[in-house]
Amino acid sequence: MKILVINAGSSSLKYQLIDMENEEVLAKGGCERIGIPGGKLTHKAHGETYIIEREMPTHTDAIALVLDELVDKTAGVIASMEEIDAVGHRVVASGEAFKKTTLVTDDVMVTMDEIAELAPLHNPAAILGVNACRAVMPGKKMALVFDTSFHATMPDYAYMYAIDYDDYKAYHVRKYGAHGTSHKYVSGEAAKYLGRDIASLKIVTCHLGNGSSISAVKGGKCIDTSMGFTPLAGVPMGTRSGDIDVAAIDFLCDKKGMTMSEGLTYLNKRSGVLGISGVSSDFRDLAAAKEAGNDRARLALDMFCYDCKKYIGAYMAAMGGLDVIVFTAGIGENTPDVREAVVSGLEAFGVKLDAAANNYRNDGAVHEISAKDSAVKILVIPTNEELVIARETAALL
Ligand code: AMP
Repeated sequence: MKILVINAGSSSLKYQLIDMENEEVLAKGGCERIGIPGGKLTHKAHGETYIIEREMPTHTDAIALVLDELVDKTAGVIASMEEIDAVGHRVVASGEAFKKTTLVTDDVMVTMDEIAELAPLHNPAAILGVNACRAVMPGKKMALVFDTSFHATMPDYAYMYAIDYDDYKAYHVRKYGAHGTSHKYVSGEAAKYLGRDIASLKIVTCHLGNGSSISAVKGGKCIDTSMGFTPLAGVPMGTRSGDIDVAAIDFLCDKKGMTMSEGLTYLNKRSGVLGISGVSSDFRDLAAAKEAGNDRARLALDMFCYDCKKYIGAYMAAMGGLDVIVFTAGIGENTPDVREAVVSGLEAFGVKLDAAANNYRNDGAVHEISAKDSAVKILVIPTNEELVIARETAALL
């Protein structure tokens, strides 16, 4: 079975064609500048990279171009579109409308339109991607795989905000979480790596990238996660503030003459480690600036690591113990200093790092970085959200 995975953004679209027999990626790539002059497709297959510069006024043009490449005599990996058994679409937010991976139908797409406002930066793009695929591949089975699904198992006392219950019922304002496919993948891989049944494990998964979230995974089910109604909540991120007292926003809006909407843009785009350091949202730049003596870069890194540590402690309490900490995503996979700072001070709780094992260059493999006598295993596991989307799609069929 071959599954095409599509991750559509507002002006970009990433894809992978995966053969589910052996979970091999046959081809992958991305379209940039959809609807903007200067369209470009980068397609990777057979160990080669093919670049096609062509205007893509709409997502339908982009998908058509991707399919042309997939069946191309030179760059292609399949003889015809018929070889694609189904398409799996990444969708950021499901609200309470969809609890699990869902087959695309006309009715489902009506509901998707209705909940688009829950993730205004992301869901409308996913809808464009689905509609484009339906236009170019009529009749093809398609699945919506939601970032939020893995968090649907949170108990009510974890996902509720303490607001008027009637408003929760009317407007579905609650914690939904994000990065669910990544948390699901790395928690499953952790159990596999350790040769343990996931049902017996208490795992904290730290997805630390440009956006960061931390989840408590007990017995294979998410019971809490750091992101909230939107991906603004939790630890400080590249440009996002993470958790903040909302009264401070009202105060700041008043002082700076910002509307609430401008205040949210401030929190989403100009805060986080960028706002604190004034240097960059990228942890490589922050590390270099700290090394050069920039104290605000040092502060940004310290705040990030301190908050990650606090979430680990909180989730240890929520799960009644801890067996495994997993680091993943751009920062989690590549930054030994951050990993060390996050787990340092947790020795009293059985968390002991092996400094030498932690200090390696990312080679795409799973690494065990805890000391031999650490009660809690610490693993670094490269994430693979596309594979989860393909697996979910295949399972639905
Ligand atoms: P992601 O959102 O998962 O792609 O992660 C992006 C972030 O990971 C970047 O903003 C960097 O801060 C960080 N990152 C990626 N590669 C490295 C690296 N080699 N060393 C340190 N940080 C990295």
